[in-house]
Amino acid sequence: MNASSKKLVAKRRRLLQKLEGLTLLVHGSYLERFSTCSRKGCACHQGKKHGPRGYVVVHREGRQRQVYVPQEQVAVIRKGLRQHQQVLALLREVTDINLKLMRDGLLEESLTVETPGESS
Ligand SMILES: [Zn+2]
Repeated sequence: MNASSKKLVAKRRRLLQKLEGLTLLVHGSYLERFSTCSRKGCACHQGKKHGPRGYVVVHREGRQRQVYVPQEQVAVIRKGLRQHQQVLALLREVTDINLKLMRDGLLEESLTVETPGESS
């Protein structure tokens, strides 16, 4: 394997290490809406709805689920949603590297190659 291919393998390792740091990851979307409650006689039933309240929307087994986000958790949830975008960017970069290695016939070999700066 030549030097430029080894550099690619080293870059792939760095990208995958970044992935490990994205621990707040939330794969979903965020929405805010107004809602009514179950208390009889509450003003929300006369049009003065509660909110806005935040929800994370996720999909499980073909169904949409909305998970309520308490106000004090909104900032950390938004951070987790941004980390999801970072994960997608990393997946694209690793995919491009692996496809390049495949075209050069080096993908399988890349599993065992030693790269500069590797400690083990
Ligand atoms: Zn109410």
